[in-house]
Amino acid sequence: MDRYYVKEGKIPTRALEVHIVDHCNLRCDHCCSFSPILKKWEVDPEDVRRDLAEIKKYLQPSFLKIVGGEPTLHSRFREILEVAKGSEVSPVVSLTTNGNFFDRVTDDCLKLLDWVTVSVYPTKNYTNKDLKDFAKRAKQFDVTVNWKVQDKFVNMNREKLSCYDEAKETFQGCWIHHRCHSIRHGYFYCCTRTQYLKALSSNDEFGVDGIELRQEDETVVLGQIKDYLNRSEPLKTCYLCKGGQAELSTQVQLTPSEKKEERERVLRQCEEINLSK
Ligand code: SF4
Ligand code: SF4
Repeated sequence: MDRYYVKEGKIPTRALEVHIVDHCNLRCDHCCSFSPILKKWEVDPEDVRRDLAEIKKYLQPSFLKIVGGEPTLHSRFREILEVAKGSEVSPVVSLTTNGNFFDRVTDDCLKLLDWVTVSVYPTKNYTNKDLKDFAKRAKQFDVTVNWKVQDKFVNMNREKLSCYDEAKETFQGCWIHHRCHSIRHGYFYCCTRTQYLKALSSNDEFGVDGIELRQEDETVVLGQIKDYLNRSEPLKTCYLCKGGQAELSTQVQLTPSEKKEERERVLRQCEEINLSK
């Protein structure tokens, strides 16, 4: 039986992510968002408004998550939260942050949020007291704060591209394409990583890994999204990836030269991948 179905005209899902910046102040190895190897970029709030209006026709996610990179680095962060809250795509608007910029999550921002997940990495610039003070401030606005200790990272990046059978097995064993749905530039993606490889590589054929939202016939788009979510075939992105089920290692920060090498390595893989297979 299919995992995803249409109920009252929309597909219920767990969460929808909006990645509002590509950059971050940290450089974690195996960052799921490829942030350390991407250029500085932030989304225009009007693009978010348009994408949310489109996806609202098709999906009913339990959470709308504002993520990055480090999302609080967006120069119009509060405006993005206003757009997210006003979209009514989901009853819960959530922020995922590394907690390095609690001062940017002002009271005006907290009024627009329901939930904040702080990923607590070994590399951090705040104390436990800062965390507690933030949680206290959040409580005044009924915002739930979830502290997620992340001292281990999933080693997702493949050294060598996989073959079709391996990519398929990886995709089918991976939980990320059920939890990390996202929208960007008019496309819906079941996996967060595709949009980043698309941003990194000039090979924009990674678009085949997503569904274009601005099509004339909404019934067709709804069907395409449902089939896409229920697929068993791997994404092109999966050829570069070991999936959410890969082994864990201690979190480390990349040096500037390691960042450069990693960027060149992944770029080479993007060029090597045969996107028509
Ligand atoms: S803090 Fe998060 S977004 Fe930033 S580099 Fe680390 S894993 Fe990536
Ligand atoms: S295996 Fe595929 S679906 Fe899973 S995280 Fe990697 S690219 Fe995404």
